[in-house]
Amino acid sequence: MVDEDIKLIGKDGIRRDGRKFDELRPITIEAGVLKRADGSAYLEWGENKVLAAVYGPREMHPRHAQNPSRAVVQARYNMAAFSVPDRKRPGPDRRSVEISKIMSEALEEIIFVEQFPRSSVDVFVEVLEASAGTRCAALTAASVALADAGIPMSDMISSCAAGKIDGQIVLDLGKKEDNFGEADVPLGMVTSSGKITLLQMDGNLTLDEYKKVMELAMNACREIYQIQREALKKRYSTSLEGYEDIEDTEEE
Ligand code: UDP
Repeated sequence: MVDEDIKLIGKDGIRRDGRKFDELRPITIEAGVLKRADGSAYLEWGENKVLAAVYGPREMHPRHAQNPSRAVVQARYNMAAFSVPDRKRPGPDRRSVEISKIMSEALEEIIFVEQFPRSSVDVFVEVLEASAGTRCAALTAASVALADAGIPMSDMISSCAAGKIDGQIVLDLGKKEDNFGEADVPLGMVTSSGKITLLQMDGNLTLDEYKKVMELAMNACREIYQIQREALKKRYSTSLEGYEDIEDTEEE
């Protein structure tokens, strides 16, 4: 039951979790966490915990689904049964099929799919803990995993939602804000070009409010892009340190 009186912003203008209107929940990303995947990333975003694994480009199965002129991007978003307080029924449902579809379409925009006819690029995202904003977390983690896999692509996608709660435009809605707020707009963007690759809206906004929401979310994507880049830099500077050690030993 929805409690109409629930207050999401205090008199001091601070949100229930202590954030300001334009403040993201803390985000950390680690690239290359899975040995057997071609590329991977683990992301924590507030209370969300997300794991992304990338395989390919590899021969597409089933063969009848192959595209003779380009690769097919197959993203699969899955929420673990233990990821939410009420057990989530395992297996695909309408919501996960929808999120998988919008993720595939967004990622096709950045991957050079025409270089890999008849192939597939498979992207698996497992949500281990969910607390609103998981599709943005999934897309952000998947982008880092694709880059980690060395898949030829134009750039990464960064993703974040903004919306409206208690009549106020805010960034990155938390669980209660998502449940009891007035609008939620998840956005995915290629920061370097400004290209929007994902845009959805739940709720209602005036045109002015919509513009504010877009500005907030786009600025946040720029911030998130830096965190994604740092994760990759850390991953590859660590690997290089390892190689230096090997070379030193060989010379001795
Ligand atoms: N959620 C849940 N059970 C479900 C699906 C979602 O408890 O079967 C929760 C979960 O915390 C999720 C939130 O509802 O993050 C918001 O879901 P929404 O569909 O808005 O997607 P998201 O904001 O995660 O992209």
